Amino acid sequence: MKSEKKAAPTIVVIFGGTGDLAHRKLLPAFYNLYLDNRMGDDFAIFGLGRSEMDDEEFRDLTFKSLQEFSRRKPEEEPWEAFNPTINYFQSDINDEKSYTELCKKIEELEKDWGLRANRLFYLSVSPKFIEPITVSLKHHGLASDEDKDRLIIEKPFGYDKESAIELNKLINNSFKESQIFRIDHFLGKETVQNILAFRFGNALFEPLWNRNYIDYVQITVAEQVGVEDRGGYYESSGALRDMIQNHLLQILCMVAMEAPTSLNAEEIRDRKVDVLRAIRRLKPEEVNRNAVRGQYAEGWMEGQKVPGYREEKEVSETSNTETFAAIKFYLDNWRWQNVPFYLRTGKRMQEKTSSVTIQFKPVPHATFPGEASDNLMPNKLTINLQPQMDIRLRFMVKRPGLEMNLNPAEMVFNFDSCSSNTPEAYETLLLDAMLGDTTLFMRSDQVEEAWDAIATVLESWEQRESINFPNYQAGSWGPENAEALIAQNGHVWSMNIHKSEKKKEC
Ligand code: NAD
Repeated sequence: MKSEKKAAPTIVVIFGGTGDLAHRKLLPAFYNLYLDNRMGDDFAIFGLGRSEMDDEEFRDLTFKSLQEFSRRKPEEEPWEAFNPTINYFQSDINDEKSYTELCKKIEELEKDWGLRANRLFYLSVSPKFIEPITVSLKHHGLASDEDKDRLIIEKPFGYDKESAIELNKLINNSFKESQIFRIDHFLGKETVQNILAFRFGNALFEPLWNRNYIDYVQITVAEQVGVEDRGGYYESSGALRDMIQNHLLQILCMVAMEAPTSLNAEEIRDRKVDVLRAIRRLKPEEVNRNAVRGQYAEGWMEGQKVPGYREEKEVSETSNTETFAAIKFYLDNWRWQNVPFYLRTGKRMQEKTSSVTIQFKPVPHATFPGEASDNLMPNKLTINLQPQMDIRLRFMVKRPGLEMNLNPAEMVFNFDSCSSNTPEAYETLLLDAMLGDTTLFMRSDQVEEAWDAIATVLESWEQRESINFPNYQAGSWGPENAEALIAQNGHVWSMNIHKSEKKKEC
């Protein structure tokens, strides 16, 4: 029987231990891994931050975060056992003394454990700190064991292709590629990983998964929230950088990649890079016909009036930053030639939903005459990634009755009804990082190719200010031009119309 994944003895160091990400995602993920007996027999977590506090205060803070954000709330017994593994270390990233101190703490712990532990450094801080941290970790010999010491880096990874290349070079001065884990939390989601299982664990779909049978593909990641209190960050980012360059292109890779020969990390990452390389690069004069940007105006969300983007905190009143982006991509390879891939993402959209729609071509011949085929629709496969987690296949059936009339029906695989204990994306990714498995993390060339694929759109949007911002209302599905973008090919965006009909089939 295959043994369950379990980390070796590990010391986790979270730079930015008092930050939002650490408390909303990382500490809850470690706690849940602990509950599932996935942490090593010895493990310790050091939260590093600038604020002054002692271990007890940090543990209290962690307890509150678990109560608020963990999928399983802290109960007395496991919390009492988990609690002493958490430590706080007040430090300044730019101060070399901090690293000497950290080194001492880690070595003391390893002496107690009687072994050289694995060390996992999580950079949950602003990207400007990547350089001082990686340089100092190397300088102090904190990550000298290539097999045991690992670095996790959060998005954003660079600002464009050139900056990503620079960043890769810089990190490679201190860490080997096999030690670097560039995180894209979408890749840790059960439903996203399931795309691979669905495609390559079934003989049924793969023969149809190409230009001969598929009309077009849509990938939507829609958020209801606005920029919240991250206006400052978002002003220098925008939807294209913040979502399309990473999450949506990664999903596209999962949908479009060739079958890997094995689940080997390099093999899977090679197949994904092939997809990114195949994306047809737009010429500057083609950007307008293939990409649409938007910015939300004030509007109503579920009965509440919400401000427009330009009224948000730390956002310029004349901001040119896009909060919505839609792009039509083509892949130049045998499998996908001439099949449009429509990607769209936006904030303050009508619904929170992430989904992939595979629209198959219509039947080639009208067997059923007249009104029998009034409802005839091409097959459609919808993979709902979040918050709804299911796969739906639309196909045609005979409507029960004496006449031969056709009706669409759906077959549904519902994740919720199959597991009540689905791990969060960060749990999956942190465990993989502790195990040294890079499969679900982005390799340097993946990141650089993804930037390259959107480079012309980035440049074009930066050079030409939008004249019609804001151009969609909060609570809508984005600007009208996004409809026009795909209507050129006779297509429409597939809305998530099944929200209310949560079926329980499995
Ligand atoms: P945050 O502002 O909430 O936390 C920043 C942390 O950095 C704090 O712990 C602070 O003490 C520490 N810090 C800042 N300057 C320091 C210094 N000189 N020395 C020592 N510590 C210092 O940020 P966050 O929202 O947790 O985000 C962290 C990183 O993760 C960012 O790169 C962000 O883009 C990325 N990220 C965050 C989220 C999220 O949901 N918050 C999601 C995806 C990616």
